[in-house]
Amino acid sequence: MKHFLHLVILFVFATINNIHAQEKIVKTDAEWKQQLTAKQYHILRQKGTEYAFSGEYNKHYKPGTYYCAACNTPLFSSQTKFDSGTGWPSFDNHIANNIDFLVDKKYGMIRTEIICNVCNGHLGHLFKDGPKKTTGKRYCVNSAALTFKKTEQPNTNQ
Ligand SMILES: [Zn+2]
Repeated sequence: MKHFLHLVILFVFATINNIHAQEKIVKTDAEWKQQLTAKQYHILRQKGTEYAFSGEYNKHYKPGTYYCAACNTPLFSSQTKFDSGTGWPSFDNHIANNIDFLVDKKYGMIRTEIICNVCNGHLGHLFKDGPKKTTGKRYCVNSAALTFKKTEQPNTNQ
């Protein structure tokens, strides 16, 4: 009986600890290809980059939240978006826990790649030339990796 109780307690603790861990979404290449548009697939799953000034969120400043286009995880708040002049949506911070960082050594450069922490989709890169008055970071993100939802106004009857 005592042994059984120990097991129950261990199980409860393990469950509580898991609440804070990100639940990963894993799909096959074929499944992603079916779900995403060709452009989204190229960027999110093949680590592509959209042309500068081509993305729909480059000059987009409505209040709201930007989500992963593959798995709908909230990634960036509009409050952290700024105009970097680079031609890609730029943020100076991310929503806690929802982005992971990898070392990218492609093209003879060492860059920090940013990926969605839930589906591992490629989002863009992180640079250190962001606004000095906030974080100094620039999250350079492909519009095609994102979807946007405007902030819901509280107490409206829409
Ligand atoms: Zn994702």
